[in-house]
Amino acid sequence: MKNIHNLLEIPNINSKDAKLKELIYDIDDSLFNKDNYSKEKFEHLCICSGGTTSSCAKNGFTTLDLRKNYTKIHLDRESNLVTIGGGVIMGDLINHLQKHNRSFPIGLSKLPGAGYILTGGVSPLSRAYGLAIDNIESIKGFLGNGTFISLKKNQINPEKQLIWEAIKGAAPFFSIITEIELQTFQSNPIKVIEGFVNLDELSEIIQLSELFPENISLQWIYAQKIYLYIFAELKNNFEDKRTEESLMPLDKFPSLEKKFYENFNKINFFPKKLNLYELNANNHSEVISLLGEDLKSDLPIFIKCLKEIMKDKPNNSCYVASQQLGCKTKKLNHGSSFFVHRKSTWKPWIYASWKKNDHQEKEVALEWLYKSWCNLKRFYPNIHLAQLHNHLNSHEEELTLAFGNRMNELKTLKNIFDPQGILPPL
Ligand SMILES: Cc1cc2nc3c(=O)[nH]c(=O)nc-3n(C[C@H](O)[C@H](O)[C@H](O)COP(=O)(O)OP(=O)(O)OC[C@H]3O[C@@H](n4cnc5c(N)ncnc54)[C@H](O)[C@@H]3O)c2cc1C
Repeated sequence: MKNIHNLLEIPNINSKDAKLKELIYDIDDSLFNKDNYSKEKFEHLCICSGGTTSSCAKNGFTTLDLRKNYTKIHLDRESNLVTIGGGVIMGDLINHLQKHNRSFPIGLSKLPGAGYILTGGVSPLSRAYGLAIDNIESIKGFLGNGTFISLKKNQINPEKQLIWEAIKGAAPFFSIITEIELQTFQSNPIKVIEGFVNLDELSEIIQLSELFPENISLQWIYAQKIYLYIFAELKNNFEDKRTEESLMPLDKFPSLEKKFYENFNKINFFPKKLNLYELNANNHSEVISLLGEDLKSDLPIFIKCLKEIMKDKPNNSCYVASQQLGCKTKKLNHGSSFFVHRKSTWKPWIYASWKKNDHQEKEVALEWLYKSWCNLKRFYPNIHLAQLHNHLNSHEEELTLAFGNRMNELKTLKNIFDPQGILPPL
């Protein structure tokens, strides 16, 4: 019989199946007590917020589950700043904001938790409102050595500046964040043009999208077939006219359907008809997220490469997808952060999945993931570290490609503020 206390009810199946050593819900003095808080006791401590990654629970490891006691959401109606706990999921955040006609650039799923914000946060709205980290106003939490921290934008003293910058993109390596204050935005209607396309049509639409204004973004997914979304926020008459002009060339694609949504949280990306295996309880999976710039004249070679990757796909549950960033995410006026690849305009991700106890299939699927990553590197040389892979061989390379020239600063912060290496390793 399963010991329910040692399993987590979370979306990620790898982590859900993990046989935990211990589950902790609170960050109090007893957690950081010397006798408890040691490398011998924890190896390292896993943190669970939305529970959507394969690193929030592992066989034989302790998980700190923030979903029970760190779930407050409070919108200040005067400042329109929202304060959320470190265990809040993005769906609950935007549902709360919607009651007050406000919104936040969450990603393509409502399931991710604070990990979405702390690792960068790429949204279909990011071209207009920046990454999730660009909208952090303040944070509270604990450094890996147990020290409480409370930091507020524009009130950071020089010795805390590096911590503040690293919280934005690399927080999981040296801190546990219990509270985040975020800017919110007026909620606007959304026009979505979506449907199945073939590879030639995808190519044409990518070319068009590289000229989109900031309120429009393209996201596509190539699973068994290719499905795409062109997402346009409608704001006012002047911009709407420009939006219509940008969207007009899409009229020629007969399979694309136009839909209007009252607001962002009415949209469900990746509908059931795509037959994605993402939440299939019989499968385990890993995802790697890449970053790169516009394809421009490389588009034909990229399409050829994508075709090869899909031809080599080891099973039907593996896929490649991509989302568009750029415009506001390129700007540094939000202050420096550890999301260093600001020039990026595309974030593709490779999803590899296998039957959960089939070690041979796992090996083949991961090999496909690494090979595909290798082939896509010429277009997307960098990494968005949205998933921590310290249990995989690719971890070190991913870290280098994610943090670039800030890697040494991150190592310094880790040495000072998580000297025992209790939080996920670098
Ligand atoms: C269906 C789906 C769609 C997605 N779409 C997007 C997208 O559009 N854009 C995008 O950018 N990403 C997207 N992601 C990626 C996702 O945002 C990241 O994987 C994110 O890290 C998940 O956060 P989580 O809290 O749900 O995960 P968890 O597994 O709970 O946490 C992941 C790791 O983050 C760290 N962490 C989480 N919370 C805290 C905290 N409070 N303090 C310190 N460390 C913490 C921990 O180390 C933890 O192991 C998507 C993921 C899924 C599953």
